[in-house]
Amino acid sequence: VKLARFDHARREAQGIVIGERVHVLEMGDAGCGFDLPGRAIAELDTLLARSPRSLLLREVMLLPPMAPYSQLICVGVNYADHAAETGHSPQRVPAVFLRHLRGVVGHGQPLCAPRGSPQYDYEGELALVIGRGGRHIAPADAMQHVAGYCCFMDGSVRDFQRESVAAGKNFPRSAALGPWIVTSDEVPDAGELQLQTRVNGRTVQSAPTSTMLHSLAQLVAYCSTWTELRAGDVIATGTPAGVGARHTPPTWLRPGDTIEVSVEGVGVLANPVEAER
Ligand code: MG
Repeated sequence: VKLARFDHARREAQGIVIGERVHVLEMGDAGCGFDLPGRAIAELDTLLARSPRSLLLREVMLLPPMAPYSQLICVGVNYADHAAETGHSPQRVPAVFLRHLRGVVGHGQPLCAPRGSPQYDYEGELALVIGRGGRHIAPADAMQHVAGYCCFMDGSVRDFQRESVAAGKNFPRSAALGPWIVTSDEVPDAGELQLQTRVNGRTVQSAPTSTMLHSLAQLVAYCSTWTELRAGDVIATGTPAGVGARHTPPTWLRPGDTIEVSVEGVGVLANPVEAER
């Protein structure tokens, strides 16, 4: 099942994507924000059966598939080849930081190359979405807490990031999440997927998720040691080698570029880059 959050006629809604259409779910009083990841597949099927209205996908504006109050936890340096290219030695535990949703757009929406820096860079990632929350989750149980997956573009402003991770990773409209959440039942082994990033059609990052330093289960378990995970929280699992900063000369994103993050079995997240107005 593909779970989407979108805007249509200036109203936010949640739905299920089937082919070229999104079926609008009537969430009733129980619906508060984007709460689909916390629901069981059987419950989603019931909601879908009760949903008479559908819209063409191209007529809606997809939003990042997470609630504004959910956490977006990002993992840095989680692929050996990226650790090597950035000169980081792999850590015993995942290096994490937080992004706020104000810096994140949905599929198809323009990203913003900031006025204050020329060093706007891409990072293609697999993101997992928590379906059942908890604390102190054991690695052996962790995957049962995952509702599904989406693609993430962890856009980073490198000169600001060197001074402060919070600053470099939270520029307005610098990241993208989507296009929707593909539920876990459709992704049997997210630890064995091919991840690719393309800029203007040219492949700049390509790696299997099996080359992560900390597995998906380890990431969920570790995050639950320091925060309470809740349904809808997102963990972005890190980027492989090939970021623009490590090219000679560096290949920064510029207005007019199109960036795509593709994860096998999950989808393709594509966004144009615009200049800051
Ligand atoms: Mg990243």
